[in-house]
Parts: sequence; structure tokens; C-alpha cells
Amino acid sequence: MYLYSLFIPNLAETCALGCRLTQQHSDRSIRRHRTHTLRSMATHGDAAAPHALLLPYPAQGHVIPFMELAHRLLDRGFAVTFVNTDFNHRRVVEAAAGAPPAAGGGRRLRLVGVPDGMGDGQDRDNLVRLNATMQEAMPPRLEALLDGGEGGEGLGRATCVVVDAGMSWALDAAKRRGLPTAALWAASAAVLAVIVGAKSLIRDGVIDDDGAPVKIGSGSSFRLAESMPPMDATFLAWNYMAGSRDAARMVFHYLTTTAWAAVAKADVLLCNTFPDLEPGILTPDSPAASVLPIGPLRTCRPTTGGEAAPLVGHFWRADGEACLSFLDAQPQGSVVYVAFGSLAVMSPAQLRELALALALGASGRPFLWVLRPGLAGKLPAELTDMVAQAQHGRLVEWAPQERVLAHPAVGCFLTHCGWNSTLEGIRNGVPLLCWPYFTDQFSNQTYICDIWRVGMRMTAAPVGSRGVVSKEEIVERLESLLGDGGVKERVGKLRELAERSVSGEGQSLKNLNVFMELMRK
Ligand code: UDP
Repeated sequence: MYLYSLFIPNLAETCALGCRLTQQHSDRSIRRHRTHTLRSMATHGDAAAPHALLLPYPAQGHVIPFMELAHRLLDRGFAVTFVNTDFNHRRVVEAAAGAPPAAGGGRRLRLVGVPDGMGDGQDRDNLVRLNATMQEAMPPRLEALLDGGEGGEGLGRATCVVVDAGMSWALDAAKRRGLPTAALWAASAAVLAVIVGAKSLIRDGVIDDDGAPVKIGSGSSFRLAESMPPMDATFLAWNYMAGSRDAARMVFHYLTTTAWAAVAKADVLLCNTFPDLEPGILTPDSPAASVLPIGPLRTCRPTTGGEAAPLVGHFWRADGEACLSFLDAQPQGSVVYVAFGSLAVMSPAQLRELALALALGASGRPFLWVLRPGLAGKLPAELTDMVAQAQHGRLVEWAPQERVLAHPAVGCFLTHCGWNSTLEGIRNGVPLLCWPYFTDQFSNQTYICDIWRVGMRMTAAPVGSRGVVSKEEIVERLESLLGDGGVKERVGKLRELAERSVSGEGQSLKNLNVFMELMRK
């Protein structure tokens, strides 16, 4: 399905997929229009074609929205070099190998892997370490890719660069070449505002110099700007990492440094959100004032007969047939979809209660449960078997999530509140039952339950901090959510606003056009 590059010695590092896998926004959103000292053009193939190099942070929740952005660029005639770490590059290629080719009709998408500086078998979920090794290992390869010096599949030099706002150190190489640059923030604008505004939180005594909350309990609540809702310093993205206070301190310094650099250096700072979703954040007095919302970026789109499905960028092979055939057989709005993203884990005791709630729950509601390999390792085999054999349920290791959420049979989504999952639930009008695990998921839960009121909490306390949530409680929360007409109505309205923002005269679509034009300069 894919062709390894013939141009570089390490064949595992570069591949091209089949078919040549191959504001009305305000001016403050785009702060610099510079003369490009090196006006790069494709040196092979179509010399006039713009060529974007995309660099997502090496996590599933970043690679997927970046791949969506890649498709939007391909739609507009850009060639795209999509740079993953070697480790994730292999996963994306392997997960896609059984799928139809990603692109056709002259679209030119090149998938590339570069070393992340970690050795074989090292724990890549150790983000603190990964952040450090990547900055050492990646720049030389990135520079070579920017110069078209690594085969390039005929795409030539990159003419513009989009990096993850979580890796804004990578902007320097593009800037030295005078290329137009963008940074994409793959979480909510609210979380970005808090990180960019951290200095004022330190000044106001909400957090200390290392990001730790100064006050505990009810005193830890703060409001960053008039337009923003109260937030709890205990649950800021870095303060609820699974791990030590030391890790939280390092993540705080990394996040603030990278976010400030993205704001200062990128020509445009994109965010996967939409104005109607975060109107209180996307305001002139917010620390996130310079953000250009272009979301919700969707991770799949309907294809017409015979047309190949676009590459999503999954790390695991999605079992689409198992999911969709099951959903097709269920009544409308009946199915509980359960998925906790790519990183969250649960204790064996909690997984057991969840399994019992789903498989033996009094209501016998149909369920589709993603038991990701890392999550499933801890569920005893007899329970996995019991769940897998439940007549009214289906267990998969990985689902084509947005296709699942778009299916009319899905009635609610039990989620860890990752930002992509949150957006995907909303854009498909699916009520959310929130069970956050770490990082920004608590902030997202606050918005889901208290601001937009399109979901409910599984518990008032974070997973693991109050002991196991019993199967009876889980069933009770599911039934409450499914029986709440108000939630259903509100999420339906947000769904319409989401759709409007990315179609016709929608603001996110306009912003996307502005971004594309800037990248062509
Ligand atoms: N996802 C998927 N299939 C699954 C579970 C998740 O395609 O079975 C996708 C989901 O659609 C989302 C991404 O993986 O786009 C997870 O990102 P999110 O921000 O929700 O959570 P994270 O994995 O970063 O914690």
C-alpha cells in the first residue's frame, strides 16, 4: 500500500502512500507579514505548487487534527510533507496499511519519520523526557527536509511550515529560511489562555513560580478575565498530570515556554475550536486574543461511491466493520459509546466495575466499548470474555471514532474529555458523560458540564481520587444522561453552530482561507 522512499538510506524513515500518497478575523491574528528572503518553490515536479511541512506533537490527539489540516491543504493544491517521529510514523503506516489509499487525483501527501532521540523500548509516554530528547534529535533532520534534501518525492523545498504549538522550538528553522509559519494549538482556546496568561496568575498569587496552586480547596478558584468562567488552579493542565510534583513543574515550564514562543514567533496561531464554542475566550482582552479558530477540524468525512477514505492518522488499526455493523443493528439513539482516547488508563478495579455496568447493567443498553491495548492489559480475561460475549455489546481495540459518533444509533459518549473527543461529540450532537483522567481534561469537563451544559460528570472527584465508582453508580449516571432532554437539545444546538462555522460563510472556514492565503505568500 505504501512505497518506501528510494532517496534516503533509512528505508523505514520515509514513505509515500499509494496514489502518490503521494473574519472575518481581526488583523491581530496575523501579526507579521515579512519579506521572504528565500522564496522557496518546488524544485521538482510542479514548480508553482506550494508545499507545506507539518509537524504534529507525537501524540494521537495531535496527529489526527494535523492530518485533517493536511487534507484541507491538499484540497487547495498544496503538497504536504507530514513529519511524525519514526515511532509514530511506523504506527500510522501500519494502521493504515489495510485501508484504502488516502488520497487520489494528484494529491501529494508524503509521510516522513524522524528520530525522536529515544532509544528502542524507552517509555514514550514519559513526555517530560520526550520533550527534551526531541529538541536535541529532530532539528538536523527537519532542516534537511525543509531544504528538500531528503529525496522529497519530487515535492522539492517546503514553502511554508505548520508546527504544533507544543513544539514551537521547531519554528526557528523555518524562520531562518524566511518561510511563512503557523503554529496549531490542538487543545481548547481556554487552556491556551490559561497557559499564556500564567504570568498574571503568578502575579495574582493563584499559582507559584512553578505553577503549583498557592491555595487549596475553595480558595484555588480564579477567573483569568471578565469574560472567562471561574477555574480551579488544582486542575490546571500541568497540575493534574499523573505523576510527581516535579513532573508537573517541568511540564508547566515546558508548556508556558512553548506557548509563549508560538505566540511570539508564528505568523499565525491556529486553534482547533470555533468562535461560538468559546466566545468568552476569543475576545480582545483574553490572553488567547491572537488565536485564529479554524475548527472543528473533522477526522473523517463522508465519501462518495468508490472514493477512497482519507487517511486519519490512527496509531491503531480501527475496526470499522465491527463497529458499524453493530451500530447498524441498534435502534436510533440507544447505544452507549465508551472510549477514553489514547493515553488514559484505569485501575483494574475500576475497569471491572465498568465492565460489569456495561455487560450486566440493569437496563441492558447496547454499548460499544473501545478497550485500547494499553487500557485492556489490566482487565482479567474472564471479564473481557464476558463483555465480548454480551449480546447487546461490542468490544473493539480501536474504533473509527468520528464515524461512530456520527452514527444515528449512538445515544451518548462516555469519554475522558480529551479535546478531540469533546469536539467530535459536540459536532455530532452526542451528549457526553465525563470521566476525565489528566491534563486539560478537567478544564474540558468544566466547559462540558457547567458552561455548555451538554454533558454530566461521572463523579465530582477525579478518577481514582475517591475510590472506585461502582457499577450501580455508572448505570445511574448513564441513565440520567440519556434521560435528560435538555442536554440533548443543547448539544444539538452546538452541533448546528459547529457545522455552520466550517461551512458556507462560517467563521472557521473564513479563517482557514486566511491561513491558506498566508501560507501561499
Ligand atoms: N480515537 C479514535 N478511535 C478510538 C479512540 C479515539 O479514532 O477508538 C481518536 C479520537 O477520535 C480522537 C483521538 O483519537 O480524535 C483522541 O484524542 P483526544 O484529544 O480525545 O484524547 P487523547 O488521546 O489525546 O487523550
